[in-house]
Amino acid sequence: PPACLLVLGMAGSGKTTFVQRLTGYLHSQGCPPYVINLDPAVHEVPFPANIDIRDTVKYKEVMKQYGLGPNGGIVTSLNLFATRFDQVMKFIEKAQNTSKALHTLLKWFFLPTEGRRRVWGQVKDLLTKAASSFPTIVIYVMDTSRSTNPVTFMSNMLYACSILYKTKLPFIVVMNKTDIIDHSFAVEWMQDFEAFQDALNQETTYVSNLTRSMSLVLDEFYSSLRVVGVSAVLGTGLDELFVQVASATEEYESAQSQQQKEQL
Ligand code: GDP
Ligand code: MG
Repeated sequence: PPACLLVLGMAGSGKTTFVQRLTGYLHSQGCPPYVINLDPAVHEVPFPANIDIRDTVKYKEVMKQYGLGPNGGIVTSLNLFATRFDQVMKFIEKAQNTSKALHTLLKWFFLPTEGRRRVWGQVKDLLTKAASSFPTIVIYVMDTSRSTNPVTFMSNMLYACSILYKTKLPFIVVMNKTDIIDHSFAVEWMQDFEAFQDALNQETTYVSNLTRSMSLVLDEFYSSLRVVGVSAVLGTGLDELFVQVASATEEYESAQSQQQKEQL
C-alpha cells in the first residue's frame, strides 16, 4: 500500500540528496511519488515537487515583513502554511485516487536545530493529519561519517530517539553517506553494549560518563529500531530501505487495527 514518508534530519545530513535519489528510484520502479517540499528556505529543489511550500509562502518576504532571522522565518513560514494542511491532504487523496502507480508519498521537512520546539507543534499537526489518512512512516536521516565518535553518536541517537518517540509512528533510521564510511561500526555499537563501552573507554571525560549511563537507556530504543545504510550520492541501500518501509507499513497497519479494536 502507498505510504507517506516524512524525511527528517539535521542540516547537512543529506535530506535533499536523499529525497532526490529516492524520487529517481521510485520513478525507475514505475511508482512515481507524490513529492511535497516543506523546506521554505531551500534555494533550489533538485527534484520535481508536486506541492512546494515556497509557492505559497515566500520565506524572504516573511523574514522581512516580520523582522525575523533565518530560523524564525522558517517557523513563521510553516505556521502560515499550516493553515493550508487540509487543502494539502485533499490534493494527496485526489492524486492517490487517480493514479494507481502512485505508491509512495514523500514529504520533506527541514528541521532547524534552533526553534525546533516551536516547529514541533506544526510537524505534529501535519503528522496527525497525514497519519489519519495513510500509513505514515518517519525516516530520520543521519550523517554516518560525522558520527564515528561515540559521544557524538550517542547524542545523535538521543536526538533521534526524542523525535521519534514523540511522533508515535513507525520509524526508520537512514545511516547516510556509507560511501565515506560503512555503517557497520554503528550497528555493532547498537547491538553490542560492550563494544560501545570499549569505544567510550578511550574517552575519560565527564561527557563519556554521562554517555555511559545514557547508553543503558537507549538499549530499548535500539532493540526496536530499523536501521538502513544508504549512500544518497551513489543510490545504494534503497532496495533494503523499501524492505524496511514495507515492514514499517505493516507495523502501522497492525497498530491501526489494534486501535480500532480498542474503540469497539
Ligand atoms: P540537507 O541539508 O540535509 O538537505 O543535506 P544535503 O542533501 O544538502 O547534503 C549535504 C552535503 O552532504 C552535500 O554536500 C551533499 O553532497 C553531501 N551528501 C549527501 N548525501 C551524501 C552521501 O550519501 N555521500 C556523500 N559522500 N555525501 C553526501
Ligand atoms: Mg537540504
